[in-house]
Amino acid sequence: MTGRQVYLDNSATTCPYPAVIRAVVEAMEEHYGNPSSLHKKGVEAGRLLSQAREAVATSLGVSPSEIVFTGGGTEAINLAIKGALPGRHGRHVVTTAVEHPAVLSALEQLKEQGVEVTVLPVDGQGVVDPQQLQEALREETYLVSVMYVNNEVGAVQPLEEISVVLAGFRKGGRKLLWHVDAVQAYGKMPVLPGELGVDLLSVSAHKVHGPKGVGALYVAPHTQLRPLVAGGGQEHGWRSGTENVPGIAGFGVAAAVIAREARGAQGKLFPLKKKLVEGILAAVPGVLLNGPPCHQNSSRCAPHIANLSFPGLRGEIVLHSLEERGIYVSTGSACASRKNPGSHVLKAMGVKGDLLEGAVRFSLSPKTTEEEIDYVVEQTAAVVQELYALYGVKKIGFRP
Ligand code: PLP
Repeated sequence: MTGRQVYLDNSATTCPYPAVIRAVVEAMEEHYGNPSSLHKKGVEAGRLLSQAREAVATSLGVSPSEIVFTGGGTEAINLAIKGALPGRHGRHVVTTAVEHPAVLSALEQLKEQGVEVTVLPVDGQGVVDPQQLQEALREETYLVSVMYVNNEVGAVQPLEEISVVLAGFRKGGRKLLWHVDAVQAYGKMPVLPGELGVDLLSVSAHKVHGPKGVGALYVAPHTQLRPLVAGGGQEHGWRSGTENVPGIAGFGVAAAVIAREARGAQGKLFPLKKKLVEGILAAVPGVLLNGPPCHQNSSRCAPHIANLSFPGLRGEIVLHSLEERGIYVSTGSACASRKNPGSHVLKAMGVKGDLLEGAVRFSLSPKTTEEEIDYVVEQTAAVVQELYALYGVKKIGFRP
């Protein structure tokens, strides 16, 4: 094992920025008051909450009163999905086959209460068809949940087109809420719920160099939402319980970076992902990219997630061989890798057999450098070549 470490598992979680760590520690050491307390200590803690709310709101281009802090992305999603009020006739929800388990499992729970769920298929690149969404909408549809960027393959869903379809559906006065899981898009590309006409949008701090266990739900004005956690009425009554002030303060620092740099992040990350994918594909023929191709300006391809299949090898073996060289990647989403080895996302895209088993996800962050990408390309080619020799995989050749 060399001394070099390259962390390319940023879609699982990220390393907190030093300024985030400082903000968390300062909040714990100095501003430990309860934000609901009336004395100075409480007011100081309340000020940290307000600053963080302002920063998260600015990063999303919305108003601070529309931000609800939660205990992470999963909780924000659960609040959106289980909290969305069906209205008098609502009993139908539409989603996609490639959503995160937080969405799919929350919907499974709704099904037990009699809600009908339509799960839209995706194409071979993991992208949903807005026309199919339009056809799935019914009089009783009260909620649509479509993610922004898929966490396993980096497919960007056609949210602008979906926005048009949903606006058309609502025109007749029909009530429908649209939730977007933007956990993987946030910080890598512009996430502007107001421009899309989204009602509910979930983000998570630890995917953007913030602390774990903190997230936020954007709630558009006049959205009817039922709280999941009842209590003292914190967070506009939608998420009771004394706020995680240190975590939220850290999230605020990460959000301020996003507000300044999210547009630039896309332009910086895209060439790095392209270099990574093209470098590995050129060095190891037979390897396949799962997800939308990353040509210049491909609007369906997220700039930071690359999922590659190494036929004839198990993804886990490639992962551990790269780990020996100080490179950290993943075989899919961190949540799915232990419990469910066959990725539901790749299966929905029609990926099968060898290609399903041999999938590896490389995920970048705005902190990733070109030099790191060069190292990863070189080491991946070497590792795969060694593994093919070891396991006697002959069908795939290597460029000299
Ligand atoms: N949604 C997506 C697309 C994710 O990638 C994740 C995390 O992997 C989540 C939701 C859940 O976020 P959290 O880990 O903050 O609960």
